[in-house]
Amino acid sequence: MKEISVTARSAAAAARATVYGYPRQGGDRELKKAVEGYWKGRVSAGALRATAAELRRGTLRQLADAGIHEVPTGHFSYYDHVLDTSLMVGAVPERHRAAVAADPLDGYFAMARGTQEVAPLEMTKWFDTNYHYLVPELGPDTVFAADPAKQLAELTEALDLGLTARPVLVGPVTYLLLAKPAPGAPAGFEPLSLLERLLPVYAAVLADLRAAGAAWVQLDEPALVQDRTAAELDAAACAYRDLGARADRPKILVASYFDRLGEALPVLAEAPVEGLALDFTGAAAGNLEGLAAVGGLPGMRLVAGVVDGRNIWTNDMEKSFTTLGTLLGLADRVDVAASCSLLHVPLDTAAERDLDPQVRHWLAFARQKTAEVAALARGLAHGTGAVAGELAANRAALASRAGSPITRDPAVRARAAAVTAAETRRPQEYGDRAAAQRARLRLPLLPTTTIGSFPQTDDLRTARADLRTGRIDAAGYEERMRDAVREVIAFQEKTGLDVLVHGEPERNDMVQYFAEQLTGYLATRHGWVQSYGTRYVRPPILAGDISRPEPMTVRWTSYAQSLTDRPVKGMLTGPVTMLAWSFVRDDLPLGDTARQVALALRDEVADLEAAGTCVIQVDEPALRETLPLRAADRPAYLAWATEAFRLTTSGVRSDTQIHTHMCYAEFGDIVQAIDDLDADVISLEAARSHMQVARELAAHGYPRGAGPGIYDIHSPRVPGTDEAAQLLRTGLRAIPADRLWVNPDCGLKTRSWPETRASLQNLVTAARTVRAEV
Ligand code: GLN
Ligand code: ZN
Repeated sequence: MKEISVTARSAAAAARATVYGYPRQGGDRELKKAVEGYWKGRVSAGALRATAAELRRGTLRQLADAGIHEVPTGHFSYYDHVLDTSLMVGAVPERHRAAVAADPLDGYFAMARGTQEVAPLEMTKWFDTNYHYLVPELGPDTVFAADPAKQLAELTEALDLGLTARPVLVGPVTYLLLAKPAPGAPAGFEPLSLLERLLPVYAAVLADLRAAGAAWVQLDEPALVQDRTAAELDAAACAYRDLGARADRPKILVASYFDRLGEALPVLAEAPVEGLALDFTGAAAGNLEGLAAVGGLPGMRLVAGVVDGRNIWTNDMEKSFTTLGTLLGLADRVDVAASCSLLHVPLDTAAERDLDPQVRHWLAFARQKTAEVAALARGLAHGTGAVAGELAANRAALASRAGSPITRDPAVRARAAAVTAAETRRPQEYGDRAAAQRARLRLPLLPTTTIGSFPQTDDLRTARADLRTGRIDAAGYEERMRDAVREVIAFQEKTGLDVLVHGEPERNDMVQYFAEQLTGYLATRHGWVQSYGTRYVRPPILAGDISRPEPMTVRWTSYAQSLTDRPVKGMLTGPVTMLAWSFVRDDLPLGDTARQVALALRDEVADLEAAGTCVIQVDEPALRETLPLRAADRPAYLAWATEAFRLTTSGVRSDTQIHTHMCYAEFGDIVQAIDDLDADVISLEAARSHMQVARELAAHGYPRGAGPGIYDIHSPRVPGTDEAAQLLRTGLRAIPADRLWVNPDCGLKTRSWPETRASLQNLVTAARTVRAEV
């Protein structure tokens, strides 16, 4: 760390460590078990509350012991913190009001999950993370009312332990920007128009928190790191002018994360608040120049998110000290934090006893990150000499990672560097390919197919559990999976589907299954991260250069093909999705990792083709969700993402048909990218939007095959034959009959067999009916 000036030295001396949030579930996922137990009536409300309180107290003690000076409160949640915010401001949709009035806890879960009678709130992704929040529904009739009870109780828990605590709330602007118009709201209604109505409620909560002993309150405004209109920036300025001017309020810390604030930075820097928390990692590092450009934050507190809160790598302490050194000259007080809530990383690397201890030191989960933050604050306040031991250990961990053969495989690097443009393009035009494929596949018009998975039954799950516990061996397990493949193939033949699948019974998860077979990926045993509610995922870790020691799927597809004369589609997870649902490297550009994964998959595609597979699907459901938050960063992303897909798929013969699949609600902004994939056929989610995507593709002039889904697989409902046929006719108005495919919205793994049977039978019947009309 370089020598620092006198003013900077006082800013340094005051440095404190803090974080914004912590994993909620506990070391043994106690929260998940308690909440699900409560749903099933096995755990009482009192017992659930006691478990939650014990977990919160454990977290507070752990944070304090790790050297976190100011602990966050209010970030705990039984389900989701945006839902908690809706309750804090009284934004309960009409249809949930009776349930909430009858029993607040059950009403809360009714809003989250729905009941027999009422639909839940919609769920969507929290910015570009894999966490999902419950979307507030607001309309012109929404009446807000403050209910600070949860925030107050959690603050009091921390104060009772003798800790300095800072309540953390979703900020009012972000809350409104994340909301959607309630059903029945007039067209064009914008939730942000409710700002004036919402601010007094926030002011009331702030006043109550201050009265209860909070010196500072944090308002999270991550929505301001996205591209915002002038009107939205104005709204942010108004909001903080208003809240800042209120008497009896605590000091306000406005927090942002996941990207740079850009044009929102001057707005917040001028606001009458006492502090800003900024992210200085990854794409957000631009905040450093942004801060310098606005002349720093004189008189304010800057909380510097220098430890990456959403990835799992050990922080580079020296690099952080350099950043902090620069920041010292830019604010009155500089505190150290993780870049965002630690909700997005697993709890503790110590639980990973299967990992080589050396590799474990490369990783930092929530617990390790709090220690990193604390050490940086200590070094900042007392000089780096005070953390000499930590620095030495950090240097050793970084050197071990950088020098490891896991991180660097010269053969993989050489191959990736030698990729030519020709390898990322199919040599024949689509028209020639289509003719060759028609001659080989001999499919009817409006061919029917599915997206890949069939129901993951209890039998399959039991087989996996039996394999884990040693009740059956690998051969026994394979036999059980082959039984499932036989059942799936027989069903599809009997039902009359045209392009069959093997059903993916052997796959625990579409990313993990491949990660386990690729060199360069690490798996964790306890690395759970909340996806939504009580659903936790264990993302694999892209740790090193990626290669494929042997074929991964060929024996399954070949076995399925050996059972039928109809074509069986090979099924792979695409390179972008392999990255999106994993923890990624921080020592290699994402595009380089994508290219390595693509090369491994390209070999798999070649092996499938050589084994006789004539249709190969490469799923990219995550293509859109990984889109950078700022539009300026999107072209570069889409360039490497689409190239990785083409590198995966373009080594095949012209008569091998490449499919891809994506599922989201909206495709409007990535139609060009879909086109750039140059897949022969794409299947997409479309049933709920009445084939909207078919019209978008047509408007774009999309020239290849497309299967907009006609069966909404998110619901147990069986679509009727007439309804399916009607959707097909709608599809035909946008896509001609020789390019339209008939399929469900997505895979069937979450469905049961009875619905699946009935729905696919209706889908085939609908295709036959409409075929006769064209
Ligand atoms: N082939 C996968 C399946 O059918 C695709 C899943 C997905 O798009 N999420 O399950
Ligand atoms: Zn899907």
